[in-house]
Amino acid sequence: MEQNKYTVDAEGYFGQFGGAYIPEMLHPNISELQAKYLDIINSDEFQKEYKTILQDYVGRPSPLGYASRLSEKFGYNIYLKREDLNHTGSHKINNTVGQILLAKKLGRTRIIAETGAGQHGVATATVCALMGIECVVYMGKLDTERQAPNVERMKLLGASVVPVTSGSMTLKDATNEAMRDWICNPVSTHYIIGSVVGPHPFPDMVAKFHSIISEEMKTQFREKSSKENPDYVIACVGGGSNAMGIFYHYLDNTDVKLIGVEAAGHGVDTQFSAATTALGRVGVLHGSKTLLMQTSDGQVLEAHSISAGLDYPGIGPQHAHFHESGRVQYVNVTDDEAVKAALLVSELEGIIPALETAHAFAYLPKLQCDKDSNVVVCLSGRGDKDLQTFMDYKAKHTL
Ligand SMILES: *Cc1c(COP(=O)(O)O)cnc(C)c1O
Repeated sequence: MEQNKYTVDAEGYFGQFGGAYIPEMLHPNISELQAKYLDIINSDEFQKEYKTILQDYVGRPSPLGYASRLSEKFGYNIYLKREDLNHTGSHKINNTVGQILLAKKLGRTRIIAETGAGQHGVATATVCALMGIECVVYMGKLDTERQAPNVERMKLLGASVVPVTSGSMTLKDATNEAMRDWICNPVSTHYIIGSVVGPHPFPDMVAKFHSIISEEMKTQFREKSSKENPDYVIACVGGGSNAMGIFYHYLDNTDVKLIGVEAAGHGVDTQFSAATTALGRVGVLHGSKTLLMQTSDGQVLEAHSISAGLDYPGIGPQHAHFHESGRVQYVNVTDDEAVKAALLVSELEGIIPALETAHAFAYLPKLQCDKDSNVVVCLSGRGDKDLQTFMDYKAKHTL
């Protein structure tokens, strides 16, 4: 695979961020992954299998389409990269397909995963069913209640869902519990992490699996626009995996401005936010050195966002590095701005986006650019799961 100047170094760092801060018990497992992942995923055999599943099962390539009514509204050219059309409804399956193939090559017979809203849990349970491999998904007890339909989906797909009752009973607690399971079952089990977070090699590996998004887009954009590259690429950032995927092949093209949109929640000056680049400091979270929201004595803070997929107190180490180096501009929008943007996109384009994705759209009215600029938005997922939130908002605001 093509390298760029932001490629991970031999110790697993991107600038000062990354690495593998893990308990002793996980060393053999992580070392094996570090030693083998590149040879495995770059092999012709692996690439052939991976690309075949992406085409025949996921439905790739996902289209890149011109959004004419949105373009008219904002006065510049807007294109949408349609990850919402993938099987299971978001970009997440690009990564779970890659990791399940890797797990098989490593001889693992059991898969574990963490999930917040359940989207990554569903994408993991799906590929486990496809391959006939046992699947255990850890999910905060609060989230199992908030996201009951996804719990039922995972069960239908044959996975066991373990409700986690420690801490705040949400995503970061589910991640801790999955790590604990892995420590106890290092030989049989592979842990499919759901974003560009965790110890090296996960951030680099997950980024590579999602880089298919920008790989496809390079050709698609040329065909659609007769220009070489877009002027702006915009994506929402939770852990940062859909953003890494759509940024990946543009990182060295400095004329392409990259924008990551984080969830401000109620606002960055309130106690209820998930805007890590605005509020975070350097620390270690879930195995890597990165930016995270923390108290003055280093306790991880609870994040808040209306969208479960962005409700995470950290970001992946690549993003921490892009933020520090200035390669990517990070901005944030509030819960309210995101819901309004979702309603607008639904009415203007006939596409109901996920609440996570709606954050990327909510930045469009704030983007200062020339009239003939070309802007691509990563449409990371579809909004069926968020219907109740949209309906509640409409009910409250039309009275
Ligand atoms: C999970 C999710 C996200 C956030 O995760 P990233 O790793 O930041 O991409 C964004 N959009 C959708 C649709 C999701 O399901």
